[in-house]
Amino acid sequence: MTEVLPPTAACWVEVVLPTPAHSGLGDSLTYWSAQPLAAGTLVRVPLGPRQALGIVWRVHEQPPTDLAPAQYRPVSEALDALAPLSDTWRALLAFTARYYQRALGEVALAALPPQLRELDATALQRRLKKLNSAPFGVAVIADADGHATPEQDAAAPALSPEQAAALAELAHSTQPVLLFGATGSGKTEVYLRAAQALLQRDPQAQALVLVPEINLTPQLEARFCQRFGAHTVASLHSGLTPAQRLRHWLAAHSGQARIVLGTRMAIFASLPRLRLIVVDEEHDPSYKSQEGARYSARDLAVYRAQLESRTARCQVILGSATPALESWHAAEQGRYQRLHMPGRIAGAVLPRLRLLDLNQQPKQCLIAPPLLAALAERAARGEQSLVLLNRRGYAPVLACHACGWKSDCPHCSAHAVFHKIDRSLRCHHCGHASRVPRACPECGNLDIAPVGRGTEQVEEHLGALLAEARRPDGGPVRVARLDADSTRAKGSLHQRLSQMHEGEVDVLVGTQMVAKGHDFRRITLVAGLNVDSGLFSSDYRAPERLFALLLQAAGRAGRDAAFVAAQQAAVELWVQTWYPQHPLFAALARHDYPAFAAQQLRERASAQMPPFGFQALLRAEARTQATAQAWLQAAQAAAQAAGLPGLAQLTLYPPLPLTVQRVAGVERAQMLLESPSRPALQAFLNAWQPLLHALRRQPAGRGLLRWAIDVDPISL
Ligand code: ADP
Ligand code: ZN
Ligand code: ZN
Repeated sequence: MTEVLPPTAACWVEVVLPTPAHSGLGDSLTYWSAQPLAAGTLVRVPLGPRQALGIVWRVHEQPPTDLAPAQYRPVSEALDALAPLSDTWRALLAFTARYYQRALGEVALAALPPQLRELDATALQRRLKKLNSAPFGVAVIADADGHATPEQDAAAPALSPEQAAALAELAHSTQPVLLFGATGSGKTEVYLRAAQALLQRDPQAQALVLVPEINLTPQLEARFCQRFGAHTVASLHSGLTPAQRLRHWLAAHSGQARIVLGTRMAIFASLPRLRLIVVDEEHDPSYKSQEGARYSARDLAVYRAQLESRTARCQVILGSATPALESWHAAEQGRYQRLHMPGRIAGAVLPRLRLLDLNQQPKQCLIAPPLLAALAERAARGEQSLVLLNRRGYAPVLACHACGWKSDCPHCSAHAVFHKIDRSLRCHHCGHASRVPRACPECGNLDIAPVGRGTEQVEEHLGALLAEARRPDGGPVRVARLDADSTRAKGSLHQRLSQMHEGEVDVLVGTQMVAKGHDFRRITLVAGLNVDSGLFSSDYRAPERLFALLLQAAGRAGRDAAFVAAQQAAVELWVQTWYPQHPLFAALARHDYPAFAAQQLRERASAQMPPFGFQALLRAEARTQATAQAWLQAAQAAAQAAGLPGLAQLTLYPPLPLTVQRVAGVERAQMLLESPSRPALQAFLNAWQPLLHALRRQPAGRGLLRWAIDVDPISL
């Protein structure tokens, strides 16, 4: 076969391809093209025996000098029906790859919809033509029976004074904004108005709205569709089919979609006229990716807004009632502008905290009698309650009291959770499932029993304990459960949520899913069970997470001032605890996030923890713990031997097993790195990465399955 000779070349292009860093191929490969190509163009090029999708990153008019021109291969096809990806987009992806220590090609190509890989230029052109045919706003705007709700605007409400003040500040703010608004203060309306104002100023502009989990808050998407019309709202999240994802991505990229709603992955959407980024519930841990490039979509939102602002002003709003301590600290330092909306809409009150001291309650009680009575009383008055227990399944473990056997997962260093509904033992780490044994597998004892409690058990107990209780209409009290198990079947999440909204459920039991952003109208009581582990965890972020979880859960109660007034209801957050004196509860009782944050930040400052110090983890996985740790040790030794930059300002801790040390038969270990200087940590990591790739191929890397760097980790 004769290669086409390059004298016909119009240009030479460096193409970024999905090559992993360890392939040693570098970030890009050079090809030639017979037609002129702009940087940012998507192309298909030969890569070994295959054809691969790539992105033109740089364009040269002259051939590079390292190989003879004839040795370069030509670009096979340019997908030039698509406008090139912008300089800003490429800068964002380049930064992400560099900062989070991943290969550029891997990160950049993963940011594109997978279907692009399969379409040729003609097929793509067809998709682009069809873009106009139907609205993007997806089926979530259908009610439980599948009827689509009318699409155009239920007129926007008159702003509350706090909302109006926040919007006035927003209009001329030049900094990232932290919208610190109480639960039920109407943050969504602020986002909607900010986007509206933007589109009035500039009808071509685009806004990106990030949410932690789109399926959990279908109301939000519905409200954006109502306000802006479903053909201007696109969404990007993992729940879309590949075809939908491509369609919505194209709508964003072509500029047709004015508003893009999405989960963390949407931070990489191509938005040629992006002028506003909103990160709703910015404290939510789901903004941090836990696989591949472990990026933080919240942090990248701030970075992206800054990049976009080089061409035209792009504003970023981080919204939360319980901001991440990093964001709070940035506001304290004046790097972010803080806008405060302390009041709830229409003067609704925040729940009053009632601590239930478990020392004073009957031993072994799952739900203390006063709480049970309160739940029955609420239901009797037609009010709803939420019961939060952050553990799904019936019980975390089954045990034999005769011999001490426990239902351990055969593949993980973790217990398999007892699910009574289908009498299974399921490992929540690897997914391994088995039948509950009839008798103890070790000693044959027939009396094996659940230890501890999960949401299934709470649901079952409440059903039994409230069996005598009645609703206002004389009917029985209806208890339902909302967790990952009860919402696995398609449509079941939506169904649960709408049952709750329609008042068809009186007591909803669930995991942290119940605490997220829902605008339930008839809840007057929220109860937290088993919260104490968050008070004394070895993870220094546990108190922050617990405080946020409880305050957010509490935030689901008493949102409708008129309902509360008509009921003359006491809006309450009940917490069962063995440690009612703990200072976290004192701040919680006052809904005093600033005091809580100040106290946490003092502790963090004295220990040089984030946000005062910067961290990264090197993680390793191997068949044995010794292999994983030995490799981490070798990695540390190699860094010291090479005298890497930044080392003097760095603390490298000894390798440790992860809390759940073995998952699916794989041993996991990690090593923590800390530095008071982010640039020093970055310089070190950048120099370390190539050493690690090399070390992987040396004897020290034998038996190592994989390794990864996690920059700014959120759980240790
Ligand atoms: P947050 O996100 O701050 O917890 P939401 O945005 O969910 O609060 O708003 C709480 C409730 O108040 C919603 O039902 C919303 O429709 C309503 N709401 C928001 N702003 C106004 C307003 N200005 N007038 C009347 N109701 C409002
Ligand atoms: Zn036994
Ligand atoms: Zn397992």
